[in-house]
Amino acid sequence: MRQRLQGAMLAVGLLILVSCTTIPKPASTGLLAGLTITVDAGHGHTRKTDHGRVGPSGEREEWVNLRIARELQKLLRQNGAKVIMTREKDEDVNLAARASIAISNQSDFLISIHHNGSFNDTTLDFPLAYIWGDAAQNPASVDLGRAILNRVDQKLKFQSGDGSGVYSDFLIYNEGTSILRNTNPILPGVIGEMGFFTNAAGEARMKDRQANHLEAQAYLQGLIDYAARGIPKAIPLKPVGSDFLRPDSPEIIFQLEDGQGGHAFDSGSIAVLVDGDTVPHEWDRVTGRLVATPPRCAHETVEVRVYGRNENGNALHPRRWDFLTMIGKENDWHGPWYVAIQRADSLRVLLNPADRDFAVKLDSTILWFERVLKAQSINPRGAEAEYRLGQLYEMRADWLKDDLAKEKALDHFNRVIAFYPTSKFVQPAKDEKVVLEEVF
Ligand SMILES: [Zn+2]
Repeated sequence: MRQRLQGAMLAVGLLILVSCTTIPKPASTGLLAGLTITVDAGHGHTRKTDHGRVGPSGEREEWVNLRIARELQKLLRQNGAKVIMTREKDEDVNLAARASIAISNQSDFLISIHHNGSFNDTTLDFPLAYIWGDAAQNPASVDLGRAILNRVDQKLKFQSGDGSGVYSDFLIYNEGTSILRNTNPILPGVIGEMGFFTNAAGEARMKDRQANHLEAQAYLQGLIDYAARGIPKAIPLKPVGSDFLRPDSPEIIFQLEDGQGGHAFDSGSIAVLVDGDTVPHEWDRVTGRLVATPPRCAHETVEVRVYGRNENGNALHPRRWDFLTMIGKENDWHGPWYVAIQRADSLRVLLNPADRDFAVKLDSTILWFERVLKAQSINPRGAEAEYRLGQLYEMRADWLKDDLAKEKALDHFNRVIAFYPTSKFVQPAKDEKVVLEEVF
């Protein structure tokens, strides 16, 4: 009996030992599993330089930010997320670096942890989430901010909680905050400002470690609530890799995933913007294919964004995709200058304004002369290329009523004189006029 009791006690002791030393295993099946989340603790190491971000009893915002960021890091890891920290101690990390940490680690979300201050009105104490710019253009960040604030409102008490909400960062800076502006083209993100340290009760809450823990939990729960509605994604299928928008098949194709294993989207919410304009699209809810047809475009790249909400109401983050056009692809040319000038010359002598596709041929000729200069700016026939470009742009101005081309022509003629002072090509060759007359 005695022996058996001892054995039982030993077993209990072992159990305690095991539970004390085992680090909680990350959940591999939770809603946050597989996500990469950058947690940014605002500011850092500014004690000597920044006397503003400090509460009435001396608690510094950057200390509170770091405590909550580390707490959140722990909670997110326990829930299976990969966490990237922009700082883990009281150090100064510049704003551009914080954004590039989030982007280079291919983060799914950015959570920037801050606390607010108002020396004008120390009665203010409410939580808010900043998103970058215009809410309509940034719907996923609004969704995320709202989800987090719902939990913050539940878990913490504020002195003027009615102000709680999502706000644009354009309200505080003309171009918004650096970290949101720089991450927004790639990933959704919010800056949380959970209460005011300039309010005495607000500062007391921020100093309270239990309240810090509740705040971190609110971020975690908000992220889980958000993820539970499915995190929709638009995956480009065409063009991909080194491919480009071909004039004969200019469609842009995305695969839309609703984040819940299907393609359930609110079809009325889907829009494809090319260089800021909505273009026609076709949406197949069975396959999840979204096919957009942009108009012909004279730029080297087009900027594409996809909008849409899954059937649970979560919005796609309209990240920016830059696709190469055929013009861009051609400009990608890395051949030698003398090959380019040969090609340019042969195109030039065939130019005829009577041709139906004169404009296309003219632009193509211009392109090849520009390549001569791009491939090697110092080359024996550089002045000639500049002079020809002047002529061709003049032609464009005259025949296609293009005023901008007139300026470009003048620019090239001026460059011939200014940059090639001894070039024989400053004076055109004697037969120049004859050649041009033959062409037309
Ligand atoms: Zn701050």
